[in-house]
Amino acid sequence: MRPDLLRMKEVALIYLDRSGGLQKFVDDCKRYNDSKQSYAVYRFIISINPSDIAELDAALGNQILHKPMKAAQIFQSVCFIAIKTLSLIEQLQTEAQINIVLKPTHLPPLPSYVLSLCEFPLDYMSQRFYMSEGIVIAMGTVTKYTQGARFLCSEETCPFSEGFNYIRVHIPGATESATVRNDFVCSLCASPLQEDMKFRVLGDKQLVEMIDAKALSAFQGYSNNKPHFRIQSFTVFLRDELSNKMKIGNRYRFIGIPACIQNCSQVTVCIEVNSIHVTAHRTSGISENFKYLLSLTSSSCWRFTAILANIFASQVVPPGTYNTLKLSILLSLVQTCDRERETADYLDLLIVTSDTLIADRLLNYSVCLVARGIRHPASNDIFPTVSKDKHGTGTASIQACSALLAKGGICFIGDLLSHKKDKLELLQSVLESRTTTVFIPGKKYGEDVDQQVILPIQTSFWTFVDEDLSSKTYVQKDNTLIGKLDLRSIAANLIDAFGLLIRCNELSCQRALPLLDHIMKKAIDPEVPYTISQQFRTQDYEELIVFAKNLQVELSSEAERLIHGYYLASRRVRTDSIHGSKLSTSALKLLVSLSKAHTKLSLRKKVLEEDVLIAVLLFESSLTLKHGASVFCVAPNAVFPFDLIDENSLQQRDVYLMQCHQQLLQFIATYGPGTHVTTSEE
Ligand SMILES: [Zn+2]
Repeated sequence: MRPDLLRMKEVALIYLDRSGGLQKFVDDCKRYNDSKQSYAVYRFIISINPSDIAELDAALGNQILHKPMKAAQIFQSVCFIAIKTLSLIEQLQTEAQINIVLKPTHLPPLPSYVLSLCEFPLDYMSQRFYMSEGIVIAMGTVTKYTQGARFLCSEETCPFSEGFNYIRVHIPGATESATVRNDFVCSLCASPLQEDMKFRVLGDKQLVEMIDAKALSAFQGYSNNKPHFRIQSFTVFLRDELSNKMKIGNRYRFIGIPACIQNCSQVTVCIEVNSIHVTAHRTSGISENFKYLLSLTSSSCWRFTAILANIFASQVVPPGTYNTLKLSILLSLVQTCDRERETADYLDLLIVTSDTLIADRLLNYSVCLVARGIRHPASNDIFPTVSKDKHGTGTASIQACSALLAKGGICFIGDLLSHKKDKLELLQSVLESRTTTVFIPGKKYGEDVDQQVILPIQTSFWTFVDEDLSSKTYVQKDNTLIGKLDLRSIAANLIDAFGLLIRCNELSCQRALPLLDHIMKKAIDPEVPYTISQQFRTQDYEELIVFAKNLQVELSSEAERLIHGYYLASRRVRTDSIHGSKLSTSALKLLVSLSKAHTKLSLRKKVLEEDVLIAVLLFESSLTLKHGASVFCVAPNAVFPFDLIDENSLQQRDVYLMQCHQQLLQFIATYGPGTHVTTSEE
């Protein structure tokens, strides 16, 4: 034996002993031995810390990182000797029966270990470990593959017609036909080899399609103008213990070995995943300008968010226009969440406007401020679909589509009325349940039974409708409710399913001029920023949102009492004998969520009564548009009744909001819990 090989085997044994890997290996052997069953191959997973092993022996460390198949052979040999010396598995006969899977805990943090799917050239020939990252856009069902098989010589007199000499084991990147075929021949007598089928070892395999996270940018901006774009995805293989370890729509970092797979005339690059890691979350601070603004506005709980909303998106609309919508957008953005959570908050927005162009541009701009902000392209599906796997296996593959790509972010679906009726019904059910069900007919995809996969839809939806179009058929009736918006063309239940219904009607005559002026300026030179908000760039808002959304906020008891009081009182006054209550329990959840969002956007951690007041005013305005005004009468622009032009107008707004607070308390005192009132129902 070559001395360096012998040395590496010694080091491998020392490493196994020191890392605790040997004990795990002995335990695994015991399980095989206790089963008394004879297998073609015995599979062992060995965890390797590359830094530790490189410190013990650089040559072996190098081998593991750059020639993992060869390194596995070293461990295979060491493990075989261990099994034989210690009589660990009675049934095991040859070294070939041992299948070692090396799993590095990490790779050196160097560029040469990173495989970026958007950079060329791609090294897919060297069969070594790389670190890669992507978002799951499609996911196949779990099927079987051959992990290992035993072959025997068909010539009875040949010594290899028995025993475990011809063992074939799956190696990364190998297709099924590479592992098991019928054209192998005996190396001793050249007779054909035959597989001993009762020894075949099957494992689980799952094909997953991923895209580089950078590809998501294709779904942002004004992508509706370029409906025909194609995103290059890459296939990753999840085998055995890794099956079902990825979720559709999620982003993962993983270590794997790139490989080339020949499928008919096509060659595709894919990656055999070795281990999956959770992506670290981006954190950031807030810009100095926002910090300064926060200190300037500390005298009132309402001023910071008022100014934020006022100057937000000045690249698209002049400061001061659409403030209620802009505040709602910011609240929706800070409710997005990168982390996997069981109970997340969502804020879906339905905007009614007579100027859809401006609304579209504003929402398009805003959706780009979060990593998972997806502008749904009209040519795609919003919700997951099922199609045949592209690799010729005929199995079903679930495609993520826009709603799942927007996981933990925002899905902006454009004009609501551009979607077909059946899609709108599906949207309504998703908004109500936050899940969608994908049906996989067994017959079509080679399975015995039909399957239903329930997928969580963890995103907020934004959409708009043209006010003039949606109420075209409107005929004035005598019993119209005050404040109620007429939206005939949309099902009432669908409107109800959106958290906030917002009407953008702030463009009064004197407003139209600066807006026009602004648009004209932008048309001449789109690079010229609007002067007032010059100091606050898009990037500052991006950082602010990342910072705000990661704040952990909690309700103060006063805030909680105010929410409950308003909810119960409002439920009471909005109940009639025919339709029952117009407020569902989801309204309570939404009020809590809105209050928390306002707290986050204010960069505070405790929800105060002031936050609840903003939530209530937004919610009540939305309710009024949906169902008409109640006795708790709010102004049409309840949150921004004045133009915010100077310090004085901010002061004026504070006074107004304090009056609203008093009105709210009065409303709760009159109609809230524990009070007896005479309403029409009684
Ligand atoms: Zn033979």
